[in-house]
Order: sequence, then C-alpha cells, then structure tokens
Amino acid sequence: MPINNFITSSFENRTGFAIMTENYGKVYLVGSGPGDPELLTLKARRLIDNADVVIYDQLPGEAIIASIPKKAEKIDAGKYAGDHTLSQNSINKLMIEKAKEGKTVVRLKGGDPYVFGRGGEEAQELIRAGINFEVVPGITSAISAPAYAGIPVTHREYASMVTFITGHEDPTKNESGIDWEILAKFPGTIVIFMGVKMLENNVNELIKHGKDPSTPVALIERGTRPDQRVTIGTLENIVSLKNERKVKAPAITIIGNVVKLHDELGEQILEGI
Ligand code: SAH
Repeated sequence: MPINNFITSSFENRTGFAIMTENYGKVYLVGSGPGDPELLTLKARRLIDNADVVIYDQLPGEAIIASIPKKAEKIDAGKYAGDHTLSQNSINKLMIEKAKEGKTVVRLKGGDPYVFGRGGEEAQELIRAGINFEVVPGITSAISAPAYAGIPVTHREYASMVTFITGHEDPTKNESGIDWEILAKFPGTIVIFMGVKMLENNVNELIKHGKDPSTPVALIERGTRPDQRVTIGTLENIVSLKNERKVKAPAITIIGNVVKLHDELGEQILEGI
C-alpha cells in the first residue's frame, strides 16, 4: 500500500506527500445513516454541502438525497438489490475519474460505509488508483432501525451479545460464509442485513440447527424514515407474516429476545422532515 495514501487519507487537513496526486481531488466515503436526515453526522452534512460531485444510491433515502445542494453534480448509482443502475466496477471508475479531474467527491452510502456497504472494497480501489480518500462513519441501520422500533439490540436481561450477518447468501454456493450451526447456538441478538429475499431459507436453517421456533423476530422496513413499518413475529410465523404484509427491502431483521421489548418501548413517533 502506498504510504502517502494512508497518511494523507487519515486526516483531512494533512497536505503532505501528494506526489503524483497533487492535482487530484479527494473522495469521501460518507455514511448517511439510516434515513432520518437528523441522524446524519455534522461531518457528513458539511461534506455533502461542499462537494463538487455526490455519487449516491437509494439507500440514504429520499429526504437525504433531496438535501444534496443543487450546485453539486448528482450521480445516482442505484444499488437496490436487483437494480444495479451502475455496476460496482463502474462506480469505482467514476469515483476515480472525478477525483482525477480535481473534484471533491462524496460517495454517499446508506448507514455506515464499512458495514455491508462495500465501502472497504471501494476504499481499496481508491488506494490502488492513488486517490486520497477519507471514510466518514455513519449510524448503521443495524442499531438505529431497531432503536426507532423500540428494540435495543442489547439489554442486560435479554442479550449480552449481538452479531451482524448478511442474509443474502446464495444457498447454492458451495462454501457459505455463515455457519448456521454456530449461529443457531448463538445466545445473543442476530441482526440480518439484506435478509428479505432469503428470509425463508435463513429461518429454516436456524430452526434446522436447533434454534427455538418461538424466538421473537422483528422485520423493520425503511427504519427511521417517516414510512417505517415494523412486523413482529417468531421464527415460526415470520415468513407468512412477511408474505402477508408484502415486506420489501430495505428491511433489517432482528432475531432474539430483545424483540420482546418492542411492546414496552413502543415505536418512535416519526415526524418526517
Ligand atoms: N451500510 C448499511 C448497510 C448496507 S446493506 C448500514 O450500515 O446500514 C443494505 C441493507 O441494509 C438493506 O438490505 C437492509 O437490510 C439494511 N438497511 C439499510 N438501511 C435501512 C433502513 N433504513 N431500514 C431498514 N434496513 C436498512
């Protein structure tokens, strides 16, 4: 890894070591949080407001996308599952091209850029291309969507551990990155990203490996946005509830006894912005 990249990308105001890259702009991999614009960090807000180019997907949500200033060049890299407007490869190329033109680029990503967002891969591509970058963490949907739904992911009485997994693994893949046997025994909260399509498969795996079918489950669609919707069930009935209610991505799945707190803590009243 070229050391200059590491150093210049660590702190925004460091200027040294720009050898080949002195005329290049910089790319900020910015987490937008889960959708409520008030959950954007101050740093994200400042960078969005000052960017020459903002490359975004739909995940940050309408309110945040609408708040990108007119003066910025806005590029929709829509990445909803099944709707890859631009492939990951062309997104990488685009970021690099714009930075080489000397532009300040914000690559705006839902939640946190390094949590199931391919942010790590994008950062690696930038490093390889000799482009300065900085990551701006965001509030991940893994904790914020359940919070707004009255579900703390840990609680002394219910869960002392929490794990984040992807639910979108291809079941025909020979080697799964997910060890369902271990997961079924995991005594904490399981948070599943991208888990709508494969919910039935994933629930069956957990039950097959011994997880109690009466374990509470929550599906939270569009968490923290004005149209957030929460569906509560158990491992046994969550698939039929999902079908009945036509649950759609983006939704986060929470599995574990913390879901019981939803009754007591209720749902955040979303004001809408
Ligand atoms: N980096 C993001 C996750 C990207 S993967 C983060 O930290 O939140 C995309 C998945 O994130 C979606 O399929 C969904 O499971 C989840 N997700 C993102 N925003 C969400 C939201 N507002 N409500 C519910 N789930 C969300």
